[in-house]
Amino acid sequence: MTQPAAVDSSSQRRDKKPGGKPALLSVEEARSRILAAMPLMGSESVPLPAAHGRVASDDVAARMSHPPVAVSAMDGYALRSDDVRELPVRLRQIGVSRAGVRFAGTLTPGACVRIFTGAMVPDGADLIALQEDATEAGGDVEIREVPRKGQHIRRAGLDFTAGQVCVGKGRVITARDIGLLAASGHVEVPVRRRPRIAILSTGDELVAPGDVPGPDQIVGSNGVALAAAVAGWGGVPIDLGIAPDRAEAIAAASDRARDADMLATTGGASVGEHDLVQTSFMQRGFVSSFWRIAMRPGKPLMFGRIGDLPVLSMPGNPVSAMVCALLFVRPALQAMLGAAPTAPVFETAVLGAAMPANDVREDYVRATLERGEAGRLVVRPFPTQDSSMQMTLAQAEALIRRAPFAPPAAQGESVDVIRFDCLAGNF
Ligand code: AMP
Ligand code: MG
Repeated sequence: MTQPAAVDSSSQRRDKKPGGKPALLSVEEARSRILAAMPLMGSESVPLPAAHGRVASDDVAARMSHPPVAVSAMDGYALRSDDVRELPVRLRQIGVSRAGVRFAGTLTPGACVRIFTGAMVPDGADLIALQEDATEAGGDVEIREVPRKGQHIRRAGLDFTAGQVCVGKGRVITARDIGLLAASGHVEVPVRRRPRIAILSTGDELVAPGDVPGPDQIVGSNGVALAAAVAGWGGVPIDLGIAPDRAEAIAAASDRARDADMLATTGGASVGEHDLVQTSFMQRGFVSSFWRIAMRPGKPLMFGRIGDLPVLSMPGNPVSAMVCALLFVRPALQAMLGAAPTAPVFETAVLGAAMPANDVREDYVRATLERGEAGRLVVRPFPTQDSSMQMTLAQAEALIRRAPFAPPAAQGESVDVIRFDCLAGNF
């Protein structure tokens, strides 16, 4: 049986069961070890049009206030409240204030100024009468009704004031944020550099997508699927292609991950005769953090580092690889980006079908979602959960999480689910 050359001694101690056999690490502990090992990315400035989805690396404060001066929120007439104590009243129209071109004078008693939305409220005016409550007659305006003082006036700085934080450090920048940043005087924004994730598939049976598989071969699909997920989660995938099941070839491929922030591999991570990922990385001084985890699908999952490079080796079965990516690579990217949540968000749904008792492994079960009585979220597991089956993964709308040793669950019982539609389309 293959063993890693070097093992982080503290983690080894924690992993040992009293009997001596390494214990299976919990999903949570595995994730926290991965997150703790992730480097925080440096900062770079990007123009606003390129900032969507990036993570702010600093608090960004408004450079100016908005609106810069008090402006009207309606089309109407700017006037003095002292002049409209009795209604109706006739006022002299002495000018016009429109958005971009203010009325330069001061409002005098008995006068009003025609005003439009977004135009500066003239000095001396404290009230905007709506145009539908007024009638122009010659150079005068008859005002029939007025709102309360200040009602249709947007005071200077109502929206935001100079120095106010628009986008907080760690925020994933939205289209709305981009608008706010532009309005507050920014043309670019400091964001975390995108983590570069090198992706290597291993297996003698694999051919690249587009190549015709031989009689014993299949198309290696993990690479492109992971690359898409990584890109959607804010990283830059680096495609290292497919390495055959030879230790030297895998080790040589890992050398091409030197400039990456993390290396993610699929396949060959077990301890079978043809599972050479551990052996090959040992040739490069791999230090193991863990390689046995209490999770299904996801066995075997191996994590450690080669020098400073974090290395996550995931199973080859496509469903296992993708579920591991969701549970570990996604939070790892969030940690590298300094973004807030680092664990998947679970929601409660009721089971549309009974589920059997679970064993020692935390189970992630592909399922569909529907709305039941009173709008309740109903989750229905696929009857077959083989981790080679990509069709059910693609058709699934959620994963049900079953805790280790969960007892049988009856139809109608509540369970934890991860909803794919809450992943912003990035899975
Ligand atoms: P392994 O983890 O290497 O034992 O692989 C487990 C299963 O996943 C095998 O049936 C492999 O053929 C399959 N597999 C491994 N890598 C890939 C890949 N990149 N794309 C699709 N299937 C794969
Ligand atoms: Mg293999």
